[in-house]
Amino acid sequence: MNSSRPFAACPEARASIRDMKIWVFTDFDGTVSNPDTIDLLGKIFDRPSERAVMRDRLATGALKPSEWLAWEIGLVDAPLGKVLEFLRDVVVIDPTFPAFAGWCRKMGFPLTILSNGLEEIIRSLLSPFDLGELRLEANHLEEGKVPWKVVFKDGSAWGHDKSAYLKKSRIEGYAPVFVGDGVSDQEAALCAEVLFAKGELASICERIGLEYYPFASFEDVRSVLEKVAGQARP
Ligand SMILES: [Mg+2]
Repeated sequence: MNSSRPFAACPEARASIRDMKIWVFTDFDGTVSNPDTIDLLGKIFDRPSERAVMRDRLATGALKPSEWLAWEIGLVDAPLGKVLEFLRDVVVIDPTFPAFAGWCRKMGFPLTILSNGLEEIIRSLLSPFDLGELRLEANHLEEGKVPWKVVFKDGSAWGHDKSAYLKKSRIEGYAPVFVGDGVSDQEAALCAEVLFAKGELASICERIGLEYYPFASFEDVRSVLEKVAGQARP
């Protein structure tokens, strides 16, 4: 990847990773997990007529993305334990992710999961795997509430500003790598030194001319980073 990428959202961006250490940030839903757990729960607990109204309000800007997310999560009208049990049966974790996390550890690259989804779900789905120290920043649930009520990390558009972590890592001298698949990953993508995208995020990158590496699994991410890392201090 060359150094001519736009960094409109990230004034701290630097031109080269050669003198920087790598910090890997990844989205969770749809990126580490398949499918996206919030989308899946939204479909299961759906209220189609309400959804049509909410979607229109989101499209016109009358509804903030975080309000949409709060609505969708608020559809879940079942105890957390039961839902986690169900999700563990149906959601697949990228089988190459645990090895990728191990490789990051070996290389000395910090690895952080950044999610607008729910910490309770992510911890539950990743609990069978040995991921070492799991750095995870996500929204969470108000304890014991049914229907569910999300507690956002901050007051940003999606309730969790992922790009803030990438900007902070730059200030600390790291070259942030970002891996993602969704609309809510766009700001973080703009701040990444090396970007991996699929799905809607890849479409956005194509539209705005943002360079990215396509990926299908974290094995693809590793193979690109193995080349890039040769230029950077671990
Ligand atoms: Mg996602």
